[in-house]
Amino acid sequence: MGEMDVYFKEQRQAEEFPLVSPHLRGLVLDVAFYAGRRYGKFILITELLRSQEEQDQIYNNDSRYRRRAWKSVHQFGRGADIRIRNFTAVQQRDILDYVTLAWPYDPSRPEFPSVSIHDIGLGRHLHLQVLK
Ligand SMILES: [Zn+2]
Repeated sequence: MGEMDVYFKEQRQAEEFPLVSPHLRGLVLDVAFYAGRRYGKFILITELLRSQEEQDQIYNNDSRYRRRAWKSVHQFGRGADIRIRNFTAVQQRDILDYVTLAWPYDPSRPEFPSVSIHDIGLGRHLHLQVLK
C-alpha cells in the first residue's frame, strides 16, 4: 500500500475522480497522504458527483427540502465523501482539524467549513468541499 492511495467504493467514483474540481482532487490527495503518513491508513471515497435526481431522492422526506430544494456541492464536482469508520474518533478529529487549518473553504467567510462529518442516510462520512 502506497502512502497516497485513494480507493473508490465503486467504479463510478473512480471514473468521476478526474472530472471533479482540481482543487477537490488536491484536497483528497492531501488527506490521503496525511492519513497514510500519520496512521498508515488509506482513504476510500464513497461519493463524488450527484445528479439532481439523486439529490431529490436523498432529501425526499425532508419537509424543508420539499418547500425549498437546495443544491449540493456534489452536484458541481466540489464535494467528496470519505468513509470514516476506518478511523478512530481521535483520528477523525485530527483529520478534521488538519483540513480546517490547511484547506480553508473561503478565508473571507470562515463560517463555511471545508470539512464536516455528516450522515445522509448511508452512515457517517467525512465530507470535504472546495469553493471552486
Ligand atoms: Zn458529502
